[in-house]
Amino acid sequence: MIAYLDHNATSPLRPEARAAMLEALGETGNPSSPHAAGRAARARLEQARRTVAAAFDMPSDAVVFTSGGTEANNLALRGLGAAATLISAVEHDSALRAAPDAERIPVDGEGIVDLGWLERRLAEGGVGLVSVMLANNETGTIQPLAEIVRLAHAEGALVHTDATQAAGRIPLSFTALDVEMMTVSAHKLGGPPGAGALLIQEGLPLRPLLRGGRQESGLRGGTENVPAMAGFAAAAAVASEGDDGRIGRLRERLEAGLAAADPAARIFGRGAARLPSTVCVAMSGVPAETQVMALDLAGVAVSAGSACSSGKVRMSHVLEAMGVEAAVARTAIRISLGWNSTADDVDRCVGAWAALAARAGERARAA
Ligand code: PMP
Repeated sequence: MIAYLDHNATSPLRPEARAAMLEALGETGNPSSPHAAGRAARARLEQARRTVAAAFDMPSDAVVFTSGGTEANNLALRGLGAAATLISAVEHDSALRAAPDAERIPVDGEGIVDLGWLERRLAEGGVGLVSVMLANNETGTIQPLAEIVRLAHAEGALVHTDATQAAGRIPLSFTALDVEMMTVSAHKLGGPPGAGALLIQEGLPLRPLLRGGRQESGLRGGTENVPAMAGFAAAAAVASEGDDGRIGRLRERLEAGLAAADPAARIFGRGAARLPSTVCVAMSGVPAETQVMALDLAGVAVSAGSACSSGKVRMSHVLEAMGVEAAVARTAIRISLGWNSTADDVDRCVGAWAALAARAGERARAA
């Protein structure tokens, strides 16, 4: 049994999602077919859409199913047209690369966007869209989205938020956030990989990235992945019920253990609101790869910075934007908890990390 503490990379499939997918996989039918089998598939797909909309408190069911967070971010950032886009410097690559010409909103040392900068830039005019993630995948930092939306709307700009990491981890209301577009991804909340959605305000003049059939209200051509969306919906429904603070208490246990093991350890974003599930920690003088390998040998799965897109370790653009020195950023790992994490997982992680910190301390003293 491994202690799997890499939920921000991907979360294990929840039993409810598996059951919904198996049921859907047992049926044949294209949702666009008019016969009974097609109508049954259509009914299952539309039920999944209503469930996802309800899980994220949408007044409508304007949910465009996609192949995941990456595609939803691309649709949001490339589907609206010409006006200038502002995007935070700490976004996921799937947003940054979808909008290569966007101006970057700087962040402070905790990773929070500079609201003063944003207000001044909006006042200069010409901004059509502001895109800021709700919670960061590397540090868990939660952005002041209500304030961002207020500033953007005051200048007539639309707002997109990438809620991929927030969804299923903190209560999330599309209505309360008052954004025009929101990205969610199934595999971060216990659904299958390769499934997600862009939630949109009804009537938004979006253009599709994938042209083909008229599926997804003309916003995404291609036969819908009904089993994946059934699994996504089932996972979103349970995830949105919350956990009464269980994960947050595990995180406190984890951080107390890490601080005791290495009093010089730095936890990033600690001074800001953060996801209850995410700890980005630097062990003084020990490269992230060494930590990840030592933990792996001890049966604990974590990642070095953001390991979403490749196995190789590179300087985190998130920590860089937060002003963290390169030498420190290279020693940062991400430990992320989720729906099936236990106190035992946390204790095994702390134990292995403490043993490595002790060895590193001995080496440093001997040198
Ligand atoms: N946005 C964020 C914040 C993410 O963490 C990720 C996944 N690492 C994505 C988008 C991309 O989602 P997906 O893997 O579903 O394409």
